Amino acid sequence: MPQLYLVPTPIGNLEDITFRAIRILKEADLVLAEDTRKTLILLKHYGIEQKVVSHHSFNEHQTLKTVVGKIRSGLTVALVSDAGTPGISDPGYLLLRECLKDGIKVECLPGPTAFIPALVNSGIPCDRFLFEGFLPHKKGRQTRLKELSEEKTTMVFYESPHRLLKTLEQFCEYFGEDRTACVSRELTKIYEENRRGTLTELKAHFGEKEVRGEIVIVVQGKK
Ligand code: SAM
Repeated sequence: MPQLYLVPTPIGNLEDITFRAIRILKEADLVLAEDTRKTLILLKHYGIEQKVVSHHSFNEHQTLKTVVGKIRSGLTVALVSDAGTPGISDPGYLLLRECLKDGIKVECLPGPTAFIPALVNSGIPCDRFLFEGFLPHKKGRQTRLKELSEEKTTMVFYESPHRLLKTLEQFCEYFGEDRTACVSRELTKIYEENRRGTLTELKAHFGEKEVRGEIVIVVQGKK
């Protein structure tokens, strides 16, 4: 039965991919990728020869109908993003919604995503959590921070290295300087770092030198 598969891919270490993900990527009629060059490197690593077509946030709206049409005509399509699980702070949701509307079978494979290892590594309670992803950069940022200052469950944020310090400063302001948090950097890669401490300690640590790499911030909820 033709369908759409959302296929998670490694967030750094190329060994972090499931047997099923590899099989689906091999067997699909078409692979849709955020960055075709990056995906071709991954496919080459696993000896997969596939047709890879671009599907990213800039063309997602325009290509929806074409992709749905292809699946309806009998093709099985696998969607991947640059890293981790499609739809999690990455393109995927719009296509998934369109397929569901059209009665097409959709399946997201379990697999890599950055926020789960960051959450568990943090040592902060992970029985309940709020995945916040990227905070808005400008409009709505302060309002959201104010709302989150009352949040009682553990919060998980994605952040870019050049915004990390400013965000930690704002977290100190809205959540309090003594709030426990953890910054996970470069998960699964050679220079992986999981730095735990209060927000003030983390601000001091990451203020010492230029921060590089990909980052997840985990913050304890309000007591
Ligand atoms: N779809 C991905 C997922 O499932 O995690 C997220 C994609 S989002 C565009 C990219 C963000 O994820 C980065 O800015 C960073 O916050 C986080 N991220 C991805 N890989 C990471 C890694 N190896 N270490 C830490 N954070 C990572």
